[in-house]
Amino acid sequence: MKIQRVLISGASIAGPALGYWLQRYGFDVTIVETSPSLRKGGYKIDVRGIAVEVLKKMELYTEAYKHKIVMQGGTFLDEKGLTVHEIPPEHMGMHVGDDIELWREDLAKVLYDATSNSCEYIFNNSIKSIKSNLLVEFTRGDSRQFDLLIGADGIHSNVRSLVFGEESLYSHNLGDYFVAICSIETELQLDHHEMFYSKKDMLLNLYCVPGQKAKALFVFRAPGLTYDYKDVKQQKEIVSSIYRDAEWETPNILKSMNLASEFYFDEVKQIRMDKWFKDRVIVIGDAAYSPCLASGQGTSMALVGAYLLAGELFLANGDYAAAFPKYEKAMRPFVDMNQRLGEAIIEHMIPKGKVEPWLGDSILDQIQSAANCIPLKEYP
Ligand SMILES: Cc1cc2nc3c(=O)[nH]c(=O)nc-3n(C[C@H](O)[C@H](O)[C@H](O)COP(=O)(O)OP(=O)(O)OC[C@H]3O[C@@H](n4cnc5c(N)ncnc54)[C@H](O)[C@@H]3O)c2cc1C
Repeated sequence: MKIQRVLISGASIAGPALGYWLQRYGFDVTIVETSPSLRKGGYKIDVRGIAVEVLKKMELYTEAYKHKIVMQGGTFLDEKGLTVHEIPPEHMGMHVGDDIELWREDLAKVLYDATSNSCEYIFNNSIKSIKSNLLVEFTRGDSRQFDLLIGADGIHSNVRSLVFGEESLYSHNLGDYFVAICSIETELQLDHHEMFYSKKDMLLNLYCVPGQKAKALFVFRAPGLTYDYKDVKQQKEIVSSIYRDAEWETPNILKSMNLASEFYFDEVKQIRMDKWFKDRVIVIGDAAYSPCLASGQGTSMALVGAYLLAGELFLANGDYAAAFPKYEKAMRPFVDMNQRLGEAIIEHMIPKGKVEPWLGDSILDQIQSAANCIPLKEYP
């Protein structure tokens, strides 16, 4: 195979995972990331089912396992802050077998460390324009020629916008849900224990592990809400206003949230595309098929997608026109099932009326089916 120059946009999970496989198969990989360094932050994420097998094939499972977080239980609280259900440890995180839960930034670092010597990383830069012959112009001025371009730049993908059209064409509203995540100080003693406070149209999830700040996750329904994605002050005001009548520890948590330096806010939605590729350009991970955070499957889908896409490119000897459709055919049922899962879970997570516990055997079965519903093709 003639060595092909591949540009990947996005250095979180899908980008470095794909870079890992492509460089192993002899491709020349460059990864461009808009942040000045690997992005920190985020909640705990899950690697489940078939994705665990992918991490093992990458020989990175042991390294990722060192960062494993094990929650020992959880408590569901109703709108008055009264306990309605205790969650046993075996239902926390919805894990079975070798599934693991870890901080997103820890997994991103494991993938980066495994590729930083073999892939070229360009931080603090982004793609400005793409000519039809894949001459790529970067925002910081220079232009370079590539043979393949991959958008692994998340739910608000730049590559998808430049090549496939604006985000509104592909974003699927799941019911006007929004999410905010931050690290906060709390006096609650929550060592490896999660609290789920809910009332109509909102959830506040809180937990911490020793030696670290607590993580607060707000998920709420707000039809018609508009916000400025760059205005963190405004986003915090929105959260404060939505949760102003909430009981339990919420007033103290809101005070801490207002002081938090690390704060993430977004709409909870899915990305749905009829086709993930156009000529020499393809999107993967959240950029192509974000299932929404409720499914807990975005990371596993990114890992599996990277493995399959690289494998098909290798089998096709770099012939993208042969490889891309085969990849999409293999990946599509897995994506569809996990997106249905995300849609179903968000409905359970946020009560429409009375607070009911929703983490149980039935959800666990659905998650495990979705996490394992793709055969892992073997590549040489
Ligand atoms: C900071 C952060 C926090 C997150 N927190 C959670 C969480 O708490 N729970 C959860 O379930 N999921 C979270 N996610 C999403 C989760 O990482 C993904 O669902 C999943 O891992 C798939 O990853 P991905 O690599 O496809 O996309 P993402 O993880 O979204 O990564 C996309 C990457 O592309 C980069 N990027 C964006 N625009 C450009 C551009 N123009 N040029 C170059 N690079 C660009 C981003 O900076 C990011 O590094 C988070 C993602 C990020 C980036």
